[in-house]
Amino acid sequence: MAKYFGTYGIRGKLDMLTPEFALRMSSAFGEHINGGKVLVGRDARLSGEMLEHAVIAGLLSSGCSVLNLGIVPLSTLEFEIRKLSAAGGVMITASHNPPEWNGLKFADKDSIGISREDGAEIEKVFESGRFKKADWNQLKKVENYPLALEEHADALRKTIERRHTLKESPKVVLDCGNGVASLIAPKLFKEFGCKVTTLNSQLDGSFPGRNSEPTPQNLQELMKAVVALKADMGVAWDGDADRVIFIDEKGGYIYGDKSFALCVDIALRQRKGPVVTTVATSNAVADVAKERGGSIEYVKVGGPYLSRRTKELNAVIAGEEAGGVIWPEVHLGKDGFITALKILERMCKDGRPLSSLIAGMPAYYNSKARLECPPDRKQTVLKKFKEKVRGDGKINDMDGVRIDFDDSWVILRASGTENLMRIFAEARSQKKADEILRKYKRIVEKL
Ligand code: MG
Repeated sequence: MAKYFGTYGIRGKLDMLTPEFALRMSSAFGEHINGGKVLVGRDARLSGEMLEHAVIAGLLSSGCSVLNLGIVPLSTLEFEIRKLSAAGGVMITASHNPPEWNGLKFADKDSIGISREDGAEIEKVFESGRFKKADWNQLKKVENYPLALEEHADALRKTIERRHTLKESPKVVLDCGNGVASLIAPKLFKEFGCKVTTLNSQLDGSFPGRNSEPTPQNLQELMKAVVALKADMGVAWDGDADRVIFIDEKGGYIYGDKSFALCVDIALRQRKGPVVTTVATSNAVADVAKERGGSIEYVKVGGPYLSRRTKELNAVIAGEEAGGVIWPEVHLGKDGFITALKILERMCKDGRPLSSLIAGMPAYYNSKARLECPPDRKQTVLKKFKEKVRGDGKINDMDGVRIDFDDSWVILRASGTENLMRIFAEARSQKKADEILRKYKRIVEKL
């Protein structure tokens, strides 16, 4: 079991994620992938530059060569891994965490993130301290690669047709949250004919504008701006811009599973095939997939699982409930820019407001609760819960325990980072979702 690796890489504050730690872990990663060309990128966090030097030193010591992309979105790095046929990549970012955090996201040659399981292998080398060091005359070089942003933007330009957006010229408000989205999004939306207003579009690693997680609470200013400016939509990215959240023209916050359902609809109109999502995603996604002639495949919660299964199945699209969507025709990581452009294009093509497009998606209601649980009891609770609910519905224990009923479901999952169990129910009405939650929460409490 990995000690440091979470669902996608490692996150911590500087007491844990020291330069020494970053150097040793990067060296262990370099050994794990057996050397080769590794891309390094980072977001604008204040500790980013310090960690960048440590990561590069670690990679070089294990015999890798390094292409340094500088400050870029995570999706830019993932796109370039494949484009430049690199052996892997390291992104220095803590995604949506507060500014005092940072993190290391490691990805393989297919731009698939290193999962918790693979991370455990890297940690073995890290813990042993026995690194394979490159000989003095075998050490490779570091080169800067300043073309990454423009090359990624070029690929993004090809993901939608320009004529619909140019004709409609919608008014959009973009909230980049002082993150790396500001390096690409405002320029791109202007090129596609949008009337753009930006919020928090200056790169600033202390995130002075808003917290980096695009929750309803953190996007209040954006919601107000969309209404005040009579804009057609608001768009907000998280810190490393892999996830994106939309605000409709009425200032309404659109949850990630709703926008993902719309993306599935868009993708399946182009090509039929499998859709990959996590066991914690709304049935709205499965409904749209079936309706549009696709099939649904479930994986554990976490970007790397989505990416890997997408590759294995040659899936049409993949995504999760928090606003992260993979468009495999471009690369295998979540890309918040493609997602935003695809929804923009659909809105303009159909000539319909965003709220009406979302209203066309299947409606589900949910109810959730958190239960305190010490880390050493989590697995026992899940095991006992599974025995207790046997026969209640179709059970999926890939990640936690999910029980599917006719048109509703409930899932019990252990939090990866906190002393908590999370329980989530979804149904066709709020009353039903609340009822299901109450029933299964009581079962967990009695275990
Ligand atoms: Mg992120």
